[in-house]
Amino acid sequence: MDISHDGIVALIQLQQLDLDLIRRKKEFEELPQRAVILEARQKRAAIVEKQAKIAGLKREVSRKVTRINDEDASLSKKQQGTEAAIAAGGEYRNVEARTKELASIVKRREAIAADLDKVLEELTKIETLESQVSAAIEDIDAREAAAISSFQEQGGALKLAIMRLEAERERMVSGLDRAVVNAYQKASARSGGVAIGRLDGERCGVCRHGIEGGRLIELRSQAPMGNCPHCKRLLIIE
Ligand SMILES: [Zn+2]
Repeated sequence: MDISHDGIVALIQLQQLDLDLIRRKKEFEELPQRAVILEARQKRAAIVEKQAKIAGLKREVSRKVTRINDEDASLSKKQQGTEAAIAAGGEYRNVEARTKELASIVKRREAIAADLDKVLEELTKIETLESQVSAAIEDIDAREAAAISSFQEQGGALKLAIMRLEAERERMVSGLDRAVVNAYQKASARSGGVAIGRLDGERCGVCRHGIEGGRLIELRSQAPMGNCPHCKRLLIIE
């Protein structure tokens, strides 16, 4: 390949810059904050679902409390009326019937008071769970916010470095021979990384395959630069 000594030096610099770009892009893609943010969002979604279930349970139990309180209020009224009627006296049989009625009201009120205790206990448990879930959501939100701000800081710095390297790359490429750049790009796309090496005696300096006989003679005839017959990378032949 027809390339000057300066061209080879520039190409090696381009290779170094490209390796730096690959490294930084990989670093950007693999920033650990991405996984933290994703995990926080998934956890949050699961907890919010749980929160909705708890809210539904709380509504149900609160309705029970209202029902019990309503029934007790109505029984209390009835009790007062019955007590007043008994106090007013009247026929013995009526008084006896009202006394029985009063006893049954009092019994029922005792029963629902016990029910209310149970339901309120249930409500307390639900409220404890509710505040635990709220605290968990707050904790996840704080973790996500911290990861986002750290991602913006670290990712932003990497993005800036990548942009600068890309601008520098454009400048370097514009100063190179088109055919050389094309050959380099081809080798680079194929290898996904190191595209240039040196012919190391009778071996490719990158893939380390031996190059023998006619192939070596042919490669040497392409000096100062040719392609490795095995990995196709560009080889500097000195
Ligand atoms: Zn090779």
